[in-house]
Amino acid sequence: MSARLDDYFTKRDLGFLRKRGIESVGDLLHFFPRRFLVPGEKTPFGGLPIGETAIVQAEVLSVDTRMLERRTGQKRPPSLTTVLINDGAMTMKIAFFNQQWLQQQLTPGLVVVFAGTVEEFRGQLTLKSPVWLNRDEHDETWTPEDLSSPFPVYSRVKGIAQSRLWKAIKVLLDVADPVEFEDPLPTGMREQLDLPDLRTALGDMHRPRTQADMERAQQRWKWEEALALQTELVSRKADYEQLSATPLFDVGARSRRFEANLPFALTASQVRVGEEISRDLARSTAMHRLLHGDVGSGKTVVALRAMLTAVDSGAQAAMLAPTEVLATQHFRSIEGLLGEQMALSPLLAEDDQVRVALMTGSMPARERRQLALDLAAGQIDIVVGTHALMSETTMFAELGLIVVDEQHRFGVEQREALRSKAGLTVPHTLVMSATPIPRTVAMTVFADLDVSTLDEMPAGPKDVTTHAVSLADHPAWLSRIHQLLADTVRRGEGGFVVAPRIENTEVEDLESGRVEQFIGVEEIRERMTRAPELAGLSIGLMHGKMPMAEKDRVMNDFLTGELDVLVATTVIEVGIDVPRATMMIIHEADRFGVAQLHQLRGRVGRDGRAATCFLLTNRPEEEPGFERIQAVAGTLDGFVLAEYDLDSRGEGDVLGASQWGGSSLRHLSVLRDAAVIEHARSFAEKIVEVDPDLSSLPALRRLIRRILPAEAAHFIEAS
Ligand code: ADP
Ligand code: MG
Repeated sequence: MSARLDDYFTKRDLGFLRKRGIESVGDLLHFFPRRFLVPGEKTPFGGLPIGETAIVQAEVLSVDTRMLERRTGQKRPPSLTTVLINDGAMTMKIAFFNQQWLQQQLTPGLVVVFAGTVEEFRGQLTLKSPVWLNRDEHDETWTPEDLSSPFPVYSRVKGIAQSRLWKAIKVLLDVADPVEFEDPLPTGMREQLDLPDLRTALGDMHRPRTQADMERAQQRWKWEEALALQTELVSRKADYEQLSATPLFDVGARSRRFEANLPFALTASQVRVGEEISRDLARSTAMHRLLHGDVGSGKTVVALRAMLTAVDSGAQAAMLAPTEVLATQHFRSIEGLLGEQMALSPLLAEDDQVRVALMTGSMPARERRQLALDLAAGQIDIVVGTHALMSETTMFAELGLIVVDEQHRFGVEQREALRSKAGLTVPHTLVMSATPIPRTVAMTVFADLDVSTLDEMPAGPKDVTTHAVSLADHPAWLSRIHQLLADTVRRGEGGFVVAPRIENTEVEDLESGRVEQFIGVEEIRERMTRAPELAGLSIGLMHGKMPMAEKDRVMNDFLTGELDVLVATTVIEVGIDVPRATMMIIHEADRFGVAQLHQLRGRVGRDGRAATCFLLTNRPEEEPGFERIQAVAGTLDGFVLAEYDLDSRGEGDVLGASQWGGSSLRHLSVLRDAAVIEHARSFAEKIVEVDPDLSSLPALRRLIRRILPAEAAHFIEAS
């Protein structure tokens, strides 16, 4: 016997298998049954209980196929194949629809095992959609136990009968190359968790003696995947920890002046996270830390403090943002927090002042060149910018710390590019996420980072009353909402109006065939200027297609109160800080994600003032989508919403945005298996500590390579 797929399948079969992702013996052994039929006691036909699963052994008496009448809409007339079988005492009739090929396979005289649900049809017993295996005298693969064991049912592989698939698997379980049974789980871990070894588990998946065997085997696959994932992450983390970095101590005049001048006391959460970061920075190995917290939890202050530590230690700091608007806003926030501590020019800086610059792609070339020179000469302490910061022409005198805002929009390679700018040592890295990350996600996607959480809001819990409104059900409410906006402006406060698109669009709903009209921000602003209830208000417009300078001007006018209302696309999503804004109206809220709505809403009520947010939709309340915006209206807790989001969208989407998007976790659920993942991590830590190259666990190394996307797998070169 041999252990190659082409010994068991024809070329044509191999094509069918490939379509199901089965290309090797290993793949086939891991192609698990979709479910099992659990037999009761083996009974003769006469005693079969209706409604239960039965496994019966019988001889085929006859097979007969006839065509039925074609119904309208059917391409081909359906066929009905009737098989008569006899168990030695009684005869039973089984019907198969559209399986004419059975005619060739079930020949009279053949002894066959059928498994299916027992039904009564016109007073006679029959089996409903049975699976079957033939058993002839020369077939050594059959054992008497096969009739009393749970009976595997595989997902259909087009073109290949269940019985052929199962037979090949059964043989391979005995004869496959021993490497297929090398266990990725270390023995100690298996024993501690009471998990079967790989060979036993594979056997129990395909031919379990009892249902309990199979259930016990099933446990294993989750652990395998969790261990592979965590081993990869833990060893990446160990790698980062090996990278030398310049220790940055919290000692200088700039940090002291900053602390003394802060107009507020740091929250306990900020203090704690600040300490976590300074401990990391003081080390001679690189920090690799994630900072996350809800909108307004005060991440910027924490990040700036860390950057000042770098500057006090004679190094530079860079802050990366995903968009120019956001970079500009960060620059402004830093400017605001530093106040007079910000140096007016590189040449006029006092000892405790900080030289901060903004670098964007739209800067005039000459200015940018000058800035690059200043950076290279160490004349700039902190630079805020977009990807432009990573261009090859940007050099740093001594880059000590990188703060990356909005991690999920930066690829791993981009972080690497920046890292490579640092020379002999690498900079410390602080990754900021503008949205809270559910614990389970932090534990998987970001588990190669240390995690700091800001779980306290400086201004106390936020006060943004949120309403979900269906304009389809209540069209008149828009003018009511506009009146409230006018009242808000009359109190000296400002309002945002947000919509997903710039221009008007018609979209045909594929399901209902209904054509929906969506109006863009340009038209929304037009209509608002004409609305009688908003007469006299100055309404501005901002969207991504406007030139940077114009966006700047509009933003500034809104900040100063020149503009009462700003109609905008999501360019205002993150980081825009306009304390006087206390009202937000979001059109087509159902088009946005939960996290995005929460982020947008975070733009109002910034300084603890009571604020109002309307989430509007053009869809009726009973349509899907309304529930989602209602969920956002129902809580102000970003962590709760992050969990809701993970729950309702499914982890594929959530992880899809991440570097693990390409992973093929088949058994592990990031959502439900948090405990397994956490536990697996402690095993992974021990493994990486004693055997960083996994030389004693080659099977684990192969598993990592199999389930993690190629560019992410750390062990690819190692093996
Ligand atoms: P995030 O970036 O987490 O959304 P920010 O750092 O922008 O939050 O802070 C939100 C607002 O709260 C800013 O106006 C900031 O100045 C202010 N702030 C930060 N920390 C505190 C604090 N401890 N007490 C009072 N206000 C604070
Ligand atoms: Mg911020």
